[in-house]
Amino acid sequence: PALDPADGARALALDKQYVFHSWSAQAALQPLVVAGAAGCEVWDYDGTRWLDFSCQLVNTNIGHSHPRVVEAIQRQAAELATVAPSTANLARGEAAKRIVERAGEGFAKVFFTNGGADAIENAIRMARLTTGRDKVLSTYRSYHGNTGSAIVATGDWRRMPNEYATGHVHFFGPFLYRSEFHSETPEQETERALQHLRRTIQAEGPGTIAAILLESVPGTAGVLLPPPGYLEGVRALADEYGIMWIADEVMAGFGRTGDWFAWQSEALNPSRATPDLIAFAKGVNSGYVPAGGVIMSPRVAAEFDERVFPGGLTYSGHPLAMASIVASIDAMTEEGIIENAAMIGADHLGPGLRALAEKHPMIGEVRGLGVFWALDLVTDAGTREPVGPAVIGALKKELLARGVIPFAADNRIHVVPPCIVTPEQVATALEAYDAAFTAVATA
Ligand code: PLP
Repeated sequence: PALDPADGARALALDKQYVFHSWSAQAALQPLVVAGAAGCEVWDYDGTRWLDFSCQLVNTNIGHSHPRVVEAIQRQAAELATVAPSTANLARGEAAKRIVERAGEGFAKVFFTNGGADAIENAIRMARLTTGRDKVLSTYRSYHGNTGSAIVATGDWRRMPNEYATGHVHFFGPFLYRSEFHSETPEQETERALQHLRRTIQAEGPGTIAAILLESVPGTAGVLLPPPGYLEGVRALADEYGIMWIADEVMAGFGRTGDWFAWQSEALNPSRATPDLIAFAKGVNSGYVPAGGVIMSPRVAAEFDERVFPGGLTYSGHPLAMASIVASIDAMTEEGIIENAAMIGADHLGPGLRALAEKHPMIGEVRGLGVFWALDLVTDAGTREPVGPAVIGALKKELLARGVIPFAADNRIHVVPPCIVTPEQVATALEAYDAAFTAVATA
């Protein structure tokens, strides 16, 4: 349909009057008005187009409006738009089969949820029920979602006004650029972070700990790639103390790192240490219909063969979500979308962002792989003092004016395009980032 700027004005006016937004004081909000999107592009009602290097909330891994996924949702809506979770349904079975197969050996079943937070909530519940223990260990640099346990498992500022759930303990994960352990090498960081985790387990009482919950690559906290040996070390500690390892793959999974799951990445986990539970959402169907879930090891699945699982959701395995998962996974597989994400990271985004860092002293560190990158911005390369919100605000403005939707968090710009992004689109965006950094540095 033709775009009418009056619809844009009306969308903004309605939003201002009636819509309440997440994580915000409402009065000063000026949301971007989005009329439509396809592939890596988003546009408004005036016809202004942007390259979406945010993937919205890092979820449109397959890009916007992928025709196969849209068509599958339409077909499913005509056939069976909703059904009770207690029924058997072909789309649900096909989706679960594909997800378990992608997780590979070591996994048996999927419990579907409405999104990421309730995936975390249920993974925690499964770990507690299976181990008969209560505490959940998670890192300060993390985000796990906005529900009872998930928000208290979260490490960042969003936890503190919401600390009602009990049984949560936090520790520091590895992050060499801002090391808590005075490390100078990745090997030191791994060893010291694992020793800190071991001491935390011992001090809390190993027999009280149900789970270690970790984003395989902490995302919103800054794309913190685990250094060599860390994930293997977590597996070993979990085994030693009878604790379950829950991998939060909500942001990192389904292509973002150039693998189906980040914990499977050759670069991050060469010996393929395997979690007990995997929480997923976002990229599983790129958010075309809200969906998430928990992938269970055979041990966890078997725990509930005879015992009632005390949890459920009206929309667990919703047909529209399931049809979109099937189509999305099939398209990703057949169109080489995961491989494209890996190639883009290795050959285009990684080298391109490192070249930007050479040129702009504000970029203190470039971290990432696949289509999952962060630029850690500093006022001084020596002290690594983070830039303030005014710099980030100015960069966001410059990038939008240059045709790129950015993703910003704290002192960082995250570069997180869809897995389908082309080398040409990366080159265009890199020019915009370059010009935006120049404009802000000289302002
Ligand atoms: N876990 C991680 C790693 C996330 O990044 C997010 C959302 O950004 C969540 C969990 C929560 O997912 P949702 O917002 O779908 O509840």
